[in-house]
Amino acid sequence: MELLNNTQIKELLALRHWLHRHPELSGKEKNTAAHLEKFIKAAHPHKIITGLGGYGIAAVYDFGGDGPTVLVRADMDALPIEEVNTFSHKSQNEGVAHKCGHDGHSAILAGLALVLKEHPLKKGRVVLLFQPEEETGQGAAKVIADEAFKMIQPDVAIALHNLPGFKKGGIVCKEGPFAAASTGMIIQIKGASSHAAHPEQGNSPAAMMAELMLQLPQIPQKKADRFKDFALATIIHAKLGEVAFGTNPGKGVVMATLRTFYNDDMKVMVKEAERICRTLAEDHKMKIDISYTEEFPATINDAQLVNTLKGVCEKLGEEYIAIDEPFRWSEDFGHFTSHFKGMLFGIGSGTNSPGLHNNDYDFPDEVLPPAVQVFYHSLLKIMDD
Ligand SMILES: [Zn+2]
Ligand SMILES: [Zn+2]
Repeated sequence: MELLNNTQIKELLALRHWLHRHPELSGKEKNTAAHLEKFIKAAHPHKIITGLGGYGIAAVYDFGGDGPTVLVRADMDALPIEEVNTFSHKSQNEGVAHKCGHDGHSAILAGLALVLKEHPLKKGRVVLLFQPEEETGQGAAKVIADEAFKMIQPDVAIALHNLPGFKKGGIVCKEGPFAAASTGMIIQIKGASSHAAHPEQGNSPAAMMAELMLQLPQIPQKKADRFKDFALATIIHAKLGEVAFGTNPGKGVVMATLRTFYNDDMKVMVKEAERICRTLAEDHKMKIDISYTEEFPATINDAQLVNTLKGVCEKLGEEYIAIDEPFRWSEDFGHFTSHFKGMLFGIGSGTNSPGLHNNDYDFPDEVLPPAVQVFYHSLLKIMDD
């Protein structure tokens, strides 16, 4: 049975293109939220909650009975990237574009609303969550911490992300770790400046920074026995003093992104990185200040949900692509899988699709109807389990 008719599919593509034309950055999804709210209202949910953790919206479908509450999440923020595409739905906001396909994810969720309106479930409660601020790793945590979230506390949370490089429409998943944990580490270093003619009168952080930039990336190899699985430290930025040829600099900063497949391994990584910072600071007589930003927990998929998804793909004749290795990127859906039984899966955007965050990327419209099917049939199955 096709769940969406041609008129509805056209409506959803128009919605996706509108969102693509009017992209908004993380935390600024005001017009996006207003537009989605209008669309969702027409699909008559039992309740709509707005202003969730910023501009988040939850549409609640309560089918009664004693079924579980299942939350389906779509993200809706765009990126600070100038679009180079010239198609008619190209971004109208300078320097901002939907280069991660969150316009597509939101349209899929809106499509699910249309289907739930016409094909109600027998029991349970479905929460369609349009989540803000995914790209900065803030949105999921803010939504979960919001007082109003208590009303929609889920038993199960699921979501999808489109994946360039995989066959268009293929469903990509694995149980256990699916996407890495990551955290941005900022190390401020303070010594003392002096005249460049008299470096001996000051204390430049240069040598400590150089050692730090060599040592941090070596943690995974040097401490291999302490990690359960993959770990990575990438230096992403460094700055020493100012451009002033008469000055021996007195301060500097080093930034690194730490990644692991398991949250426990992230704890090991952070501890080791901090130990190196403290040891070097002592050796070089520097003051240091360490802070963290853009923290994403690992996305861990529940085995039973992954089995359900496999069954749904079989039933619908959609290709299920099992992967062995988790993805090295992070998803703030990890906040949901840290709190609730959850699953994030991928849907292939085509092997020829430009990569996510590339300036010529665009969400593939063809995967929209099958994605709605997979979500709907997963809901049917989860409610019965
Ligand atoms: Zn992204
Ligand atoms: Zn994304």
